[in-house]
Amino acid sequence: MTSFKLENVEDLYEIGALLGSGNYGQVREMREKASGSRWAGKFLKLQKNESTHMGLDIRSVKKEVEILQALQHENIMALKDAFESTVELVLIVELISGGELFDFVAEKENLLESEATEFIKQILHGVGYMHSKHITHLDLKPENIMLSDKNAPVPQIKIIDFGLAHRLTQGEEYRSQRGTPQYIAPEVICYEPLSPATDMWSVGVITYILLSGMSPFQGDTNEETLKNIIEMNYEFEDRYFTETSAMAKEFIQDLLVKDQSLRMTAEEALLHPWIKPLLRRHAANRNRSSINIKNFKKFNARRKWKLTCNMVWLCTRLTHLQLLRQTAVRVDTEQKKSNSDQEDRQTNT
Ligand code: AMP
Repeated sequence: MTSFKLENVEDLYEIGALLGSGNYGQVREMREKASGSRWAGKFLKLQKNESTHMGLDIRSVKKEVEILQALQHENIMALKDAFESTVELVLIVELISGGELFDFVAEKENLLESEATEFIKQILHGVGYMHSKHITHLDLKPENIMLSDKNAPVPQIKIIDFGLAHRLTQGEEYRSQRGTPQYIAPEVICYEPLSPATDMWSVGVITYILLSGMSPFQGDTNEETLKNIIEMNYEFEDRYFTETSAMAKEFIQDLLVKDQSLRMTAEEALLHPWIKPLLRRHAANRNRSSINIKNFKKFNARRKWKLTCNMVWLCTRLTHLQLLRQTAVRVDTEQKKSNSDQEDRQTNT
C-alpha cells in the first residue's frame, strides 16, 4: 500500500540545485534537515483534472511508488519517502551523482570488453532482481542507466525511472505501446502481451550500442526504425565491429530474438561465457577485444544533442499550450461578458 506523507516536504528537506528534468517535472538535490544527508527529490506535477493533458495522473505515480517500494537492490535507485500535496508529488530517492553510464564511457580513451561486461553484468543483476519480483521496467535505455559514483574503481550501476514499469500478475496479459523507438521490442510495437523478456531485448540494444557506437535498428525516421525492429533488420557491420569478440556478438544475438520465449533471460545472460567466462580462452578473448570508442563518442554526442533538442521542443510546446490556454480563458471570459451584456441588453429591451 503506497503511503504518502501529507506534510510539507520543505519542513523536512532543504531543496537544492537542479539535477535534471523529466517529461513531468524536475529532479533536485535535497538535504534532510534532521540528518544532513543528501538525496534527490523528484517533483511531479499532477493533472488538475481528467480533461487536461498537462501533468501526471496520480494513479500512474502511485504505481511507480509502489513498484519502487518493492525493490531494494544495490543496482536499482532506492526510494526513501513520498510526499503528496494538491498540486504535486515529491519522491525522495537515492542521490545518484555519477551521471549516465554512456557519458562516463564516452570520456574514456579505450574500454576493453572485459571492462564493458562489468557494467552489463550489473545491469543484468538489477534487471534479474526486478524480474524475480515479477516487475518489468519497460523503459531501459541509456538515459536510465546511471552510476552512483564515477570515481569508484568499478562504478556502481543504478537503474532509474520506473515511470513505465509494471508488476505482472499471474494470468494477466499486459500490453503497452510506450517506450523509445530505438530500444523497444517487437512485441511493444505489435501490441502483444509483454513480459520480462521485453526488458532483455532493450539490454541487447544497449549492449550493441555500447560495443559499436551504432544503434542496431535506427532508421531515418521513427517509422523506419519500428519497421526495422519488426523485420529484425539488423546486422553486425564489419567496419563498426572490427574489435568485437565473437562471444559478444553471440550474446547480443541471444537477446535480439523475436520470439520472447526463446530470448535469453537475465539469469541465463549472467551465465553466458561473455559475462562469466568458463575457460581461460573466453577471458583472454574479452581482454583482447575492446569497444569501438571512436564511434561510441560520436553516438553519444548525437544522443545528447537530440535529447537537448527534444527538451527545447517540449518547452516550446508547453509554452505554446499554456499560451493557447490563456487565450482560450481570455476569449471565454470575453465571450461570457459579451453574452451577459447581450442578456442585459435583451432584458433591457
Ligand atoms: P527522470 O524523470 O527520472 O527520467 O529523471 C530526469 C533526469 O534527472 C535524469 O535523466 C537524471 O539526469 C536526473 N536524475 C533522475 N534521478 C536522479 C537521481 N536519483 N539522482 C540524480 N539525478 C537524477
